[in-house]
Amino acid sequence: MKLERVIQYAQTLLKMSITEGDIAVDATAGNGHDTLFLANLVGDEGYVYAFDVQKEAVDATLHRLLDNALEHRAIVLKDGHENVAKYVTKPVAGAIFNLGYLPGSNHDLVTKPNTTIQAIESLLKLLKVGGIIVLVVYHGHEGGKEERDAIIHFVSELPQKYVHVLRYEFINQKNEPPFIIALEKVKNIPLES
Ligand code: SAH
Repeated sequence: MKLERVIQYAQTLLKMSITEGDIAVDATAGNGHDTLFLANLVGDEGYVYAFDVQKEAVDATLHRLLDNALEHRAIVLKDGHENVAKYVTKPVAGAIFNLGYLPGSNHDLVTKPNTTIQAIESLLKLLKVGGIIVLVVYHGHEGGKEERDAIIHFVSELPQKYVHVLRYEFINQKNEPPFIIALEKVKNIPLES
């Protein structure tokens, strides 16, 4: 047997929660691999909302969709994932974040604790029961540890009645490999009064 690697396991989790006709979110489009993966899962009746603040990432993602003739299944927004609720109003079956910087691009442009957590909060509201948010937490770069710690703190406090929080991590690997945090919504969270 072989334990699933982190990237592979992130896709396994998405596959378990997203099916044809669903709405899915790629919170960090980057080079578009996950947007394409999600576009394949949602089918022609479903839809993917992809976000990235960099033009380069938006272009790369659009190209990948076009190359695979799946551009009709997704919209690629040049905006921050913290604004997800401005665009997505229907229940979401699954969402993915790849944190950190875009490989081969500007290493100073990284995801940030506050906006990442804002996006998670918004997505938790949008998520349907049984839906999942998957975070691939890269933390080796500058600022990565602060973001990792802020996220761990935030998700650890989520009430287990509403959200199940999983950490999937190889704990003996060198060079600060990424790990997964997955949030499964198990019950609708009452709106704050
Ligand atoms: N570290 C990963 C890739 C992360 S890509 C790997 O090695 O595979 C992260 C992407 O998030 C980048 O393309 C960056 O532009 C984008 N990003 C940064 N802040 C963002 C925000 N607020 N909203 C949406 N995307 C953001």
